[in-house]
Parts: sequence; C-alpha cells; structure tokens
Amino acid sequence: MSTVIPIQTAAATGCQTAPVLVERGQREVFCGLTGIIWLHRKIQDAFFLVVGSRTCAHLIQSAAGVMIFAEPRFGTAIIDERDLAGLADANEELDRVVQQLLARRPDIKLLFLVGSCPSEVIKLDLSRAAERLSRQYLPDVRVLNYSGSGIETTFTQGEDACLASLLPVLPRSQATVPGAAPAQLLIVGTLADVVEDQMRKLLNDMGIAQVAFFPPRKSRAMPQVGPDTVYLLAQPFLADTARGLDAMGARRLGAPFPLGSEGTTLWLQAAAQAFGVPQARFEEVTAAPRARAEQSLGRHRTALTGKRIFFFPDSQLEIPLARFVQRELGMDLCEVGTPYLHRQHMEPELALLPANTRLSEGQDVEKQLDRCRQDQPDLVVCGLGLANPLEAEGMSTKWAIELVFTPIQGYEQAGDLANLFSRPLARKLKLVA
Ligand code: SF4
Repeated sequence: MSTVIPIQTAAATGCQTAPVLVERGQREVFCGLTGIIWLHRKIQDAFFLVVGSRTCAHLIQSAAGVMIFAEPRFGTAIIDERDLAGLADANEELDRVVQQLLARRPDIKLLFLVGSCPSEVIKLDLSRAAERLSRQYLPDVRVLNYSGSGIETTFTQGEDACLASLLPVLPRSQATVPGAAPAQLLIVGTLADVVEDQMRKLLNDMGIAQVAFFPPRKSRAMPQVGPDTVYLLAQPFLADTARGLDAMGARRLGAPFPLGSEGTTLWLQAAAQAFGVPQARFEEVTAAPRARAEQSLGRHRTALTGKRIFFFPDSQLEIPLARFVQRELGMDLCEVGTPYLHRQHMEPELALLPANTRLSEGQDVEKQLDRCRQDQPDLVVCGLGLANPLEAEGMSTKWAIELVFTPIQGYEQAGDLANLFSRPLARKLKLVA
C-alpha cells in the first residue's frame, strides 16, 4: 500500500512560485459548444438548443456523431441570412422553434438556450428570451441560457457557463451554527455515471452520508447549497461556478483533482478531513481500490517512464494531467501549457509538480510550436487542429478533447487514463516495426 501524502505537506513544495510564461497571441481552441456533448449525456431530462449558424450545428453534430439512434437532447435553431440581415424577428422565430420542440418532446424539463458567435453578433438577448419562455412554460419546463460562443473562450468553459447558469435556481440550504460540521458534500463538475457511483460508494463507506453531485442526472433533483455545504471540484475548469458557489456560502475544499491513484486519494482525503473521518477508516475504505489502481498503472509505467511529454493549452486539464504522468508514470515534462492558470484552484496541483516545470499560460501558437519542435517530445497533448500537422512532422499526439470525453477520474479509471498516454506511443512503435 502506498503512503497518503498529507495535503498540508504537499502544499509547501513544488512549482507554486515558479515563473510562468504568459502568452497572448493567436490561439488554437474549440468553442464552448463542445461541452454539450458530455452535458447532454449527464442531465437526462435537459435539452440544449444552440441558437447559432450551420457551422455551430455541424460542430456539435460531428463531435457527437453517435446520437443517430437516440432522440437527441441537443439541436440548433439556425440563424440564417434573414436573421443576420435583421429582416426577421429572431425572438419570434426562437419562440416558434421552442414551442414546436416542447410540444413534440414532453420529456424535456430543462431547456438551455445556448448562445453562439452568430447570436452574439446580432445581439440576440437570450437571457430575456429565457425569462420570457420560462414564464410561459413553468412549472413544466424551466428555460435557462448561457453562452457557448468561441470568442475568447476554451472548449471546457461551456460546462462552466452551463453550471453557473443553474446556480440561481438551486434550492438554498439552512445556515449552520458557526463551527458546526458541514451537512453535505457537493461534488461539482460532470463525471460519468459510473465514476459518480464509485465515488459515492467510497464516500458513503467512509461515513459521509450526504453526498450530492452537480450537475445532477435529473433536473428536478438539483442539490441544495448554502453555508452548510462544502464542495469538491471534480473538474479544474469551473472557475465561475466555484465563484458562484462561494457567494452562496458554500466552502471549497482545496485538493488535487481525482486523476490517478494519488490524485484520487488526496481528493477523497480532503473530503474525509472535512467530515472528520478517522484515518484508519479512510485507509480501510481506499486500500483495495488504490491497490487495483496502482497495479493497473504499473503496466503502463514500463512504457512511459522517461518519455518526454509536451502539453499545449486546450482543456484546462493540463496541470492535473502533467502531475499524474510525471508522478505516477515517470514521464518528463517539457512544457505544461494551460489556457488559464487559476492559481487558487491549482495550488495543490502546482505543489506536486517539479520545481523547474516550464509552465505557460495562454498561447502564441507559432512560438509554442517552435518550442515544441525544439524539444522533440515523445508525446504531444494538443487540440485537433494541431495534431495532424504535428503527426505529419513525425510526432506522436494525443487529442486533449479525448481526455475530457473519456471517464478518467477515480481509482478504477486510472489504468484507462494511463492507456490514453501509452497507446499513441505503442501505435508508433507498431508503425515503425
Ligand atoms: S459558436 Fe462560434 S466558434 Fe463555435 S461553432 Fe459556432 S460560430 Fe464556430
């Protein structure tokens, strides 16, 4: 059994004070509409209506691909030339589309109007549209809005914007007596159902009975939030949502993210400490899954130890992933790029990275490509737009988006996560052989 690293000790080391290369140039990123792909699977009675162009529709349709046999839970209300030219009343058209959709789909209980670049260009006020439609369709259907626009965003911000739009409708929980133990633990950020079930079981087995997940699987089961709530971020890209939860009185538990055996242990330990779970009980509950995780990582460590990896900024998962591949798989970090460096949320992660890690925030893509070529890493984690050209130059790549679509959190998924890094290298070896 491996040793649990106390969070307090970890927080005193690492690359927390290392200089960060900040770049503000041309960027290669996907827009926030992409988040619909995993959000529509999670909230089972919600529908995501993108108010956008045919380009937006194509983006989601091709990214989702697999929904051909199911009743989709997303669609696009197309803004056409007449809307763009101001010849049609876009609000009237939107009301008509929503009316048709809800008449045909009584299973929809929560409707998101998702803004896009085109809806922002024609200054379509989707928050007023959502209020108007909510008045019309409540109590059967609640209508909310958020922006998935590609202007100045990265693709995981779509989830942050979606969750932040839900905060005002969450039920409020009671204030607690000062100093009293928290009443409930809220896990914030979309996790695959299978991961959610595993996490709930581990936390329940430790004696933490009140565990809620946000977003929930059903829109009618929104968690209560208030000063009696402590929360753990399950995803590192939820800065606005976290700010909103803080404003509602909830308290964030600082921890590394639940990637790999170590990350999952420290993440669970933050909850255990907040709820006063005895260390012996924690060890008892986590020992077997930790051993399984470490065994599954061992298979990949042989292939990955000493290999050099370069992260382009894309998903905002880069820093936790870098910590995982460096500490648990023995990989060497060339550069760890992140679209945004949210220091408060990343502190426990930065504390675990080597002190000399080259961190970069933002992007100037040509300069970063030059650094990457100079480094000649064994593996590059990047967006789809960069992967093909880099492969053509002989580098092995991993699409960052795949790391968001795949269940990778928790002990039981640690091997699958490692496999996402070892597979491209194994493929290259086969091609060379
Ligand atoms: S929201 Fe903007 S960036 Fe995203 S697909 Fe639509 S037009 Fe493109």
